Amino acid sequence: MRAAPSATIDEVAVVIIGGGIIGCSIAYHLAKRGITDVLVLDRNQLASGATARAAGLVCHARSDTSTIHMVKRTLAAIDEMEALLEEKIDFHPVGSVRAIFSEARLGELEKMEACLTAAGVEFSTITPAEAKRLCPWLELGDARRIVFVPADGYIDGAHLGSAYARAARKLGVRIRSGIEVTGLLTDGPRVTGVETNEGLIRANWVVDAAGVWGAVIASWLGWGLAAAPTRSHYWITAPDGSGTGHQPNIHLPDMRAYLRSEVGGLVIGLQEPKSLTYDPLALTADMADMPLIDEERDTELLVTQASELRKVIPKIDEWGFAHHIAGLSNYTPDGKFVIGRVPEIEGFLLAGGCCGSGVAASGGFGLTIAELIAGIEPSIDVTLYRPDRFGRVDPSSEAFRERCAAARSGKSRGRVDDVSRAA
Ligand SMILES: Cc1cc2nc3c(=O)[nH]c(=O)nc-3n(C[C@H](O)[C@H](O)[C@H](O)COP(=O)(O)OP(=O)(O)OC[C@H]3O[C@@H](n4cnc5c(N)ncnc54)[C@H](O)[C@@H]3O)c2cc1C
Repeated sequence: MRAAPSATIDEVAVVIIGGGIIGCSIAYHLAKRGITDVLVLDRNQLASGATARAAGLVCHARSDTSTIHMVKRTLAAIDEMEALLEEKIDFHPVGSVRAIFSEARLGELEKMEACLTAAGVEFSTITPAEAKRLCPWLELGDARRIVFVPADGYIDGAHLGSAYARAARKLGVRIRSGIEVTGLLTDGPRVTGVETNEGLIRANWVVDAAGVWGAVIASWLGWGLAAAPTRSHYWITAPDGSGTGHQPNIHLPDMRAYLRSEVGGLVIGLQEPKSLTYDPLALTADMADMPLIDEERDTELLVTQASELRKVIPKIDEWGFAHHIAGLSNYTPDGKFVIGRVPEIEGFLLAGGCCGSGVAASGGFGLTIAELIAGIEPSIDVTLYRPDRFGRVDPSSEAFRERCAAARSGKSRGRVDDVSRAA
């Protein structure tokens, strides 16, 4: 075994561990605030983890207003960065249709509607015929309520991650890939930098934005990050003209499904009744090396769920499936993010527990962490994301991961009262 190099190779105000969409958004928002002595470190390529696998839905309907404001900041950041970079960042503002069929789901939708109103996001109730005009293969005649949210849309996660990175660089931030953080430097209760495979980097602030690997970083401080790496997956149909590009995203929570356009075909996300979780302290370093797909089991799921979907998408049997994509996203027991300080530790911030919404909420993550570092009150109320709200947890334990999987399943069933909502 080779000892880690112990010479100091750099000294900065802020080190961000992780160059996914969250780390890059934090870097951009710090730089926008004038804090440019920032170094982002990623051991792989930028935006190559969960960010590269996201379905990219940007959805405002949530069960709390904070998360809606987090999403609104993402869209505002896209506008700002288009001006800064003088390029189009490919957000598709197609809106979304959410159809509800069960009584249980209706209460959940009413709560979301109240939050949308409170957060100033427009929505309207539409008829099955109007939904069909927006999306010709959709038959929503049996729906109890259908809501259209015009501000919703979709964006490629890696593309948005790269935009944050390029905008941050343009404002003076340094970003490095191929460098691994192997430990934290501490002085009593304060984190003072990171140890890397190249040497030590001293910093006033260290931000853990390492996605599903974030628990490893937190464990170096003896802290259990309250989130479990949980599998999400979706299929992409062969292009046959079903996805027109301007068709809205479709959310069918009763059927645990979502759909959106993708180069002439469609992305179809199906959520399994019980999500698979993984030990966060035993993950390989690159998501591309993780065996996350079990074709036999997954095809069975597709066939089972297709029989339910057939009622609203009679055409589903005509679609061919060209790709199957899976990845890990960190889910918490209550479906809310993890943002803020670890108790009794200074100079260290957690930005994780994205609960399948990290692309949509990336702007809010960046804004909040930048404000915390700048020492100002966060403009979004992030108290519901406090890292210590579950007390001390062991994120590797089966019992804890079960709680996260249950929250994930509740995400589309609506049984978890305050669960956050996305794809
Ligand atoms: C199948 C799927 C579909 C999804 N669909 C959506 C969607 O429709 N809408 C939505 O909003 N969200 C969606 N998500 C969730 C979204 O992808 C994530 O919330 C988001 O990408 C998390 O970003 P991140 O930056 O935290 O993590 P990542 O993108 O995983 O980035 C973390 C980075 O940290 C680096 N790292 C880790 N450890 C170290 C270390 N020790 N040293 C240096 N670098 C390190 C990694 O290399 C990695 O690049 C989906 C996720 C999946 C898996």
